[in-house]
Amino acid sequence: MLKGKTALVTGSTSGIGLGIAKALAAQGANIVLNGFGDAEGPKAEIAALGVKVAYHGADMSKVSDIEDMMQFAASTFGRVDILVNNAGIQHVARIEEFPVDRWDAIIAINLSSAFHATRLALPSMQQVNWGRIINVASVHGLVASAAKSAYVAAKHGVVGLTKVTALENATSGVTCNAICPGWVLTPLVQKQVDAKAQAMGVSHEEAKNLLLGEKEPSMQFTTPEELGALAVFFCSPAADNVRGVAWNMDGGWTAQ
Ligand code: NAD
Repeated sequence: MLKGKTALVTGSTSGIGLGIAKALAAQGANIVLNGFGDAEGPKAEIAALGVKVAYHGADMSKVSDIEDMMQFAASTFGRVDILVNNAGIQHVARIEEFPVDRWDAIIAINLSSAFHATRLALPSMQQVNWGRIINVASVHGLVASAAKSAYVAAKHGVVGLTKVTALENATSGVTCNAICPGWVLTPLVQKQVDAKAQAMGVSHEEAKNLLLGEKEPSMQFTTPEELGALAVFFCSPAADNVRGVAWNMDGGWTAQ
């Protein structure tokens, strides 16, 4: 379905980003990966799906790095047809104890980077009258949890940015939607499982069940593969008129 198209997925060396990149590659899209840590493993996993793959190590907290990455993607593959704004970090602390540098980093990586990549991707999408911008927000773009002020503020911001991007392009073939996962067992959440296990003196298995039990009636983690399938749907012709939605995949978290 996506043969000949190029997808750039930020924060795709791990977790949800890698899951989405693999799902888009399985539909034939060439992929630009981004993120920290090992890039060779993810590159090989994408190449094995029979598409072209490139990697750019932009630090998504730096505007000049994002500009460089978008230029690299255009010069490597001609254009970015699908932009997935996924890179994100977390820090958990009450507001009065929240480190100022963590606030700034979360707003820059989880929110401002989506604005910068979007503003740089839009002109070439508008030129060919087709494009897909998918913002990986969170249930925390819809509801809040204590001790996650920066993350919740950034993710609510991402949902707002999604709606504005969708509206500004509503008469064109460029759509923008957000995905709002509940708990997904990636390194980002594993840290929270480990912290809970330590704080409560319980096993990792018990800590996982406690995390799920607090929020997710399904008692199941959402998987990167499920989120990848939703991203593929947003790229399909059936989603041509799906604009500005914040689609939760959260085991019932926000239905309560
Ligand atoms: P992860 O830690 O597995 O992956 C995060 C990715 O972002 C990695 O590739 C990492 O290298 C990259 N990254 C981090 N800082 C970066 C920076 N400054 N520049 C470039 N890349 C950077 O986490 P994940 O759980 O896969 O999270 C992906 C997205 O999904 C995030 O936006 C997160 O907020 C969101 N999300 C996660 C969950 C969850 O339960 N895991 C739930 C809802 C939303």
